[in-house]
Amino acid sequence: MAGSGKFFVGGNWKCNGTKDSISKLVSDLNSAKLEDDVDVVVAPPYIYIDQVKSSLTDRIEISAQNSWVGKGGAFTGEISAEQLIDIGCNWVILGHSERRHVIGEDDQFIGKKAAYALDQNLKVIACIGEKLDEREAGKTFDVCFQQMKAFSDYVTSWTNVVVAYEPVWAIGTGKVATPQQAQEVHAAVRGWLKENISPEVASTTRIIYGGSVNGSNCLELAKQEDIDGFLVGGASLKGPEFATIINSAT
Ligand code: PGA
Repeated sequence: MAGSGKFFVGGNWKCNGTKDSISKLVSDLNSAKLEDDVDVVVAPPYIYIDQVKSSLTDRIEISAQNSWVGKGGAFTGEISAEQLIDIGCNWVILGHSERRHVIGEDDQFIGKKAAYALDQNLKVIACIGEKLDEREAGKTFDVCFQQMKAFSDYVTSWTNVVVAYEPVWAIGTGKVATPQQAQEVHAAVRGWLKENISPEVASTTRIIYGGSVNGSNCLELAKQEDIDGFLVGGASLKGPEFATIINSAT
């Protein structure tokens, strides 16, 4: 862990769950023993945020999985940052690879979303990461730096930003980056922050890893110097396993 501040573990529930399964997950999380020195955030689908908020321990904060790029209004199907704040949701995940590559959001759109969300006092989990063909072409750093640059073109303060490095080839595939592969990119991203934003932002910003993190691989990953936590998809849907990941901070 190099970024100052606490280890950070986010659970991205994506488009999963029912009222019943979420109630079971919440009760598993409520009874789990979680280390104190970790920030924990879960991101349920929008429609279950209220249910989770009213039943989950205050020890765990709530995030949305997306937010609209500007003020609300005539934008069918969207949810605005103001609305998230209104219901007591303080975090949002932006730039997730499924938003970039399945829905088609581009760097600029995501950068604007981040700036707007931060302006409304949401904290942002800003995701970056390369696709498999980009890694194989030796472009991992280029892609990550370009995505960082797009965030930095719009974001004026990094205080409320956590950066999530999530190689697209590792998301939901069971193919986790090796601790060395992840560390290499995290260190490079921290170096980018140092050179392009400031040494202070580089040393205070948490850079978390996502992509097939589970109860078995989290310890080795958490030992890496520049890995400050995790963004967890599949394994965050299983309360006891998610608790193991939360408690993996070293
Ligand atoms: P995964 O998803 O843990 O299921 O690979 C991670 C993510 O998409 O944030």
